[in-house]
Amino acid sequence: MTSPAAGFDLTSLDRATLERELTARGLPGFRARQLFQWIYQRDVTDFEAMTDLPRPLRTALAAELTITTPRLIGRERSEDGTEKFLLELDDERRIESVFIPDTPAMTFCVSTQVGCAMACAFCLTGRMGLVRNLTAAEIVGQVRLLAHALDLRDRAFNIVLMGMGEPLHNYDETMTALRILADPFGLAVPPRRVTLSTVGLVPAMDRLAAEPLMPNLAVSLHAATESRRREIVPIGRKYSIDEVIDACRRFPLPKRRRITFEYVLLAGVNDSDHEAHQLANRLAGLRAKVNVIPLNAAPGIPFERPSDAAVDRFAGVLASHHITVSVRKSRGRDIRAACGQLIVEGGRRSPAQILAAKIDRNED
Ligand code: SAH
Repeated sequence: MTSPAAGFDLTSLDRATLERELTARGLPGFRARQLFQWIYQRDVTDFEAMTDLPRPLRTALAAELTITTPRLIGRERSEDGTEKFLLELDDERRIESVFIPDTPAMTFCVSTQVGCAMACAFCLTGRMGLVRNLTAAEIVGQVRLLAHALDLRDRAFNIVLMGMGEPLHNYDETMTALRILADPFGLAVPPRRVTLSTVGLVPAMDRLAAEPLMPNLAVSLHAATESRRREIVPIGRKYSIDEVIDACRRFPLPKRRRITFEYVLLAGVNDSDHEAHQLANRLAGLRAKVNVIPLNAAPGIPFERPSDAAVDRFAGVLASHHITVSVRKSRGRDIRAACGQLIVEGGRRSPAQILAAKIDRNED
């Protein structure tokens, strides 16, 4: 194979791009389909074992291309069946992915960044700061690894981009990953089984609205009044609730789909009846559902989880406005795999992490 730009990661390309790369090197485009089937459907990453490729091609591919799979370095199982996977990337950075067995379907919760720049006040990942974006290969690699480790490759599962990171802050790699996941010659996960959760980056939401491949959209709102939201979601200073909700109204929702609004309930902060009425008013006329998430408390998080009665009350007010509401059952709290609890301790730390740790201990 003669190549102008050797050495790319095969799993970082969607099939159309891979086809172009291969034809630019004088190879037939259908090799892309074969490579996809080996890697994503048969779980084979050793070029030598790809027996329907001519032997010299296998050797050339092995010499020039890489296939990145995160390394599994830790696996913990919660008493509720949730499993947390600690993965190490090629540069020794670490991320976490979570398997939730029955929600009611099986769900893989994957990360899109190492750390996160959004710094929501109640989220542990936010404490790390953004270390770096994940590549599409690393995003899809989590799904490949979990499907393999759990022996679920041939089963239907859901994917939620609700692990570490803000997917729309890593837009291109996330979209490439979604195309690879949806590919019928890849993992063939239909977009309706994928949910992208965003803190509400308005320009990127508009960009997403024009994509041919449309995942379900979940928007982390967490407050119904501007000043409250700005206190707990710093990016709310840039994009107001009005702007976020307008972007949702513009969003071309496929039939029978709804936008999920995530609302982390913080005791005494955003759990009043007033806030619930306001939220209901804001969502009027939108095909929406609200997912109320009682805070998963953790050391260093300056908020408390509301009582079950307060959670029910908040959900009840929304329901009285005919808003569909669900309360997220907390899964995997005993192994710190629940929402907002993903943080990678140990290993290398970013300057932002070190700073956050200093702030925690109140040093200067
Ligand atoms: N950045 C994206 C996706 C990652 S977080 C987003 O903001 O939506 C997925 C969900 O978990 C978000 O709704 C987030 O607000 C929530 N979350 C974060 N920390 C949490 C905590 N400590 N308890 C409960 N939910 C939390």
